[in-house]
Amino acid sequence: MIYDVIIIGSGPAGLSAAIYGKRAELSLVVIEKAALSGGQIINTTEVDNYPGFIGISGFDLSMKLREHSDSLETEFITGEVKDLSLDGETKVITLDDGTKLRAKAIIIASGGVPRHLGVEGEKDLAGMGVSYCATCDGAFFRNKDVVVVGGGDTAVEDAIFLSRISRKVYVVHRRDEFRAKKGSVTKLLSLENVTVLWDSVVEKINGDDVTESITIKNVKTNEINEYDVSGVFIAVGYIPNSGPFKDIVATDKSGHIIAGENCETNVPGIIAAGDVRTKELRQIVTAASDGAMAITAVEKYLNQ
Ligand code: NAP
Repeated sequence: MIYDVIIIGSGPAGLSAAIYGKRAELSLVVIEKAALSGGQIINTTEVDNYPGFIGISGFDLSMKLREHSDSLETEFITGEVKDLSLDGETKVITLDDGTKLRAKAIIIASGGVPRHLGVEGEKDLAGMGVSYCATCDGAFFRNKDVVVVGGGDTAVEDAIFLSRISRKVYVVHRRDEFRAKKGSVTKLLSLENVTVLWDSVVEKINGDDVTESITIKNVKTNEINEYDVSGVFIAVGYIPNSGPFKDIVATDKSGHIIAGENCETNVPGIIAAGDVRTKELRQIVTAASDGAMAITAVEKYLNQ
């Protein structure tokens, strides 16, 4: 059988594509790595910025998205995509168990994972003060002291955002210069409740059940200090799940699949949606929007 479209990933982008695809009467299947839909939002305690769902948990929102896809009789297959190849105009997917699936078009909605620091306490306190998303979790740290780790646009923007909510924001950066845009850096450095700890790295994050403090080392002086904080926001980059597709579609130097707002890649009939593609704002609402756009791109391709 040759599907009209195979959707890789069952996060908000993939499930939104499935809903739009089924309503467009396309023959489709969704491939999900684990038998649990939702992608990264599964781990989000509370989603407070997805329109229409005040304070819903990431897990519950995932279930609702899945329920919506199921109500349209969407086919799901559990498996990890290991390869994508072309057989003429047909796209061939190979799963980890060797299964091959064929389709006229592919939507890659495989998302990504935040880069971790790999320090003591990070894993154990994830969701208990350690967060990889200031926009999602910042509101839980109102009038508390927090740390942001990183020196890129995400870290600097997160710190500016948190400075409006939290009492004190420390920014820990391993060098003495930010790589973020100058305008944001100027803004950050002008904020009274922000202190930048230059040339500094995280040694460990401390706390029994919740985050209580962070141990920071200055890499130039080797001085070690402990700061009492309730939140640690890690913004040291993002690893897109684009590995199996890199030989086929163009990616940027960070590994994101190059695609604009129409979600079209450099290969006709291969569409990239959600966090895996190059984009300005990685949020649930923009991922869901991509899912809808991706089906429009598939229909355009199939009608050509
Ligand atoms: P990024 O630009 O890759 O920056 C990651 C930061 O984390 C860097 O400052 C890096 O330090 C630091 N870092 C990396 N690994 C580390 C480690 N193991 N320990 C300590 N520090 C570490 O990531 P990003 O800020 O998430 O941005 C990703 C892309 O999205 C960028 O292209 C960015 O411009 C874009 N973006 C744009 C906007 C916007 O335009 N509004 C907003 C957010 C993101 P070094 O500087 O020393 O390498």
